[in-house]
Order: sequence, then structure tokens, then C-alpha cells
Amino acid sequence: MPSYEYVGNLHIHTPYSDGEHYHQAVADAALLVGLDFITFTDHNVWVAGIEGYYGDDERGFVLVLSGEEVHDRTRLPQCNHVLVLGAESEVAGHAHDLSSLIEAVTQAGGLSFIAHPDDRGVDWLGEQSIPWTDRYVTGFTGLEIWNYMSRFKDFLPGRYSAIRNVFQPEDVMIGPSPDTLQLWDALLEMGHRVVGIGGADAHGTRVTMGPLSHIVFPYDFLFSSVNTHILTKTPLTGDCEYDKTLLYEALREGRAFIGYDIPGNTRGFRYTAQGQNSAVIMGERIHLGHGVTLQALAPARAHIRITRCGEVVAEEKNAENLTHVVREPGPYRAEVFKTFRGLERTWILSNPIYVNPNPGTRL
Ligand SMILES: [Zn+2]
Ligand SMILES: [Zn+2]
Repeated sequence: MPSYEYVGNLHIHTPYSDGEHYHQAVADAALLVGLDFITFTDHNVWVAGIEGYYGDDERGFVLVLSGEEVHDRTRLPQCNHVLVLGAESEVAGHAHDLSSLIEAVTQAGGLSFIAHPDDRGVDWLGEQSIPWTDRYVTGFTGLEIWNYMSRFKDFLPGRYSAIRNVFQPEDVMIGPSPDTLQLWDALLEMGHRVVGIGGADAHGTRVTMGPLSHIVFPYDFLFSSVNTHILTKTPLTGDCEYDKTLLYEALREGRAFIGYDIPGNTRGFRYTAQGQNSAVIMGERIHLGHGVTLQALAPARAHIRITRCGEVVAEEKNAENLTHVVREPGPYRAEVFKTFRGLERTWILSNPIYVNPNPGTRL
């Protein structure tokens, strides 16, 4: 079961909406930290003509793709931001209704992810919350489980602590919103297949507070923080169109995990299941048979656990490897935590392996 791992970021803004830098400069930042792909997601604009491999022999190459982040501009307060990947056309015209938008993206062969579903406002900064409001809507590909910038807002309780935290974000960031993890588990428990991704929501914004002027969260910092790792069955080829399809099809299946690289490099994490006659990786389905063995392999010693619908079913501290035999169908996710600067932080979040009941079994 060979798999090839590619690391990239799926939530990035440029001056086509409210970001600071254009595509080439952002691609340079991605090359600096060694990302394999980036997808631009400006607000309600799909920018054509920018896709391709950027870089050179010295720095390597990064695959640059064009998506968008769509929302209904006429609806206030703002809500329901959706990341659209691979639709290959402008779909912002469907923004007035979340169901129609998701349907249009699906029809176009694209992927739709509800962005920052539990986004909260920051009152003293005048920052509004932009959550997922229309929760009755289904049919989307997945959820943005960990949006770095949205989550960071939860660590800005007041002006004084904000100045400290903005200069030392590594100290305060501990993991994604617990509300979003609960939401993910609830949707999985209802039987939905929901692909989890992580993203930067990079803007490269300059903020001035009194005498301090500071690029808050430059692109290269965010690209070395929360990323999505995609596992493909064959390697990328260097052909933009072919590789885009390969990456997005793997992502559609959920063959992906979220990695937070500040505590340590997350490349190399694997989560697999072995049944009687088959073996699968994260995102895939397997029949229960007489039992399925799940295995999570961390890139270094860490606190590993496997959960089913929010309940921890297996756990090991200071381990590189956790195995667990399951005898009950359900979606099983793996999580890895690593201690960094004295605090345990979420390091890796895998997509679930869906253990299906045996054919003919009544639930
Ligand atoms: Zn957004
Ligand atoms: Zn955004």
C-alpha cells in the first residue's frame, strides 16, 4: 500500500481580496519552507491563469492552484464561508444559498469545505465572528477543522495580552477549536463522510499598534504552522493538470491529515487499518469482518490516541506507535499530541478510517 505524501496549504489570500502579496511572492514563501502545493482562495473570485509549478532547480518547485472562498456578500452578519477547490469555474454566483453553492461545486466536479465553522469575534478589535450558521446543509466535502488565523483570535482576550501573543503565537496556540472537533465527530456519528483539512487563512497583514508596526503572521510563518498533508497512490509527475487531479481526488477521499509543524515536523505520520482481506489508509472504508486492526505511526515519540465519535478507544503516551483492534463499526480518527514549550499541543489530526458493518448485518 504505497502512499506518497505532499504537504500544502489550502487557505490563502492575495490582493485579489484582502491579502498583502500576489501569487509569485506567496509561492516564494511556500518554497522557502518547502511546501509541495498551495491553493489560493480569495473571497468570491476565482483567479484564472495562475496555476502551474513555480520555482527553480535551486529552491525546488511548488504546485500553485486556484480556488476561492465563497460567501453571500449581501448577508449580514457574515457567515457560511466555503472553500471551493477544483471547480475550474467561477461559482460565486451561487453564494446566495449555501445548498445551491455546494450543489454547483459538486456538479462542477469540485470540492467544498466549510471554512472556520466556529469562528468567534474579538469585541475590542471590532472583529466580527464569521461562523457556519446554516448547519442544516449537507453534501459538502468536509470541514476546515483547524484554521490557524481564526483559531488565533480565541487567544486575544484583551489588548495587553494581544501584543504579547501576536509576537509569540507559538506559546499560545494549543490546537484547533474543541467546538469544531465536536462538530466533526457529531457529523461523523450521523453517518456523514466529512473530510477534515487544516489551513492558514494567510493574509500577510500589517498591523499597527501605537509605535509598533508588525507584519502579523507572514505567509512563510503560517506555511510552517498548520498544513494539510495529502497521501496519493502514485507520485506527482510535474504535469500541473494531472497532479492537481491526483491531489484533489486523494483529498476528496480523505486520504489526508492535518499537521502542526511548530512542535516538530509532522511528515511521515501514517494511519492504517488491516482487515482479514484488505488494508486501507486514512479516509478509506473497510469492512469489520472478524475485527480490524488500526495502527497510528507518529513521526517521533508523542501522545497518540484513537477516538470514535468523541470517545477515546485507545491511548499511549510517549510512543511512536499505537495499535488497536476494533470490534465495532464506526469512524475512527487518530490524534497525536506533542509537548512544546511546556504545554501539550495538538500535533497531528488524521482523517477517520470508516469501519463499516459487515454486509447483511443489522445495526
Ligand atoms: Zn473566511
Ligand atoms: Zn479566508
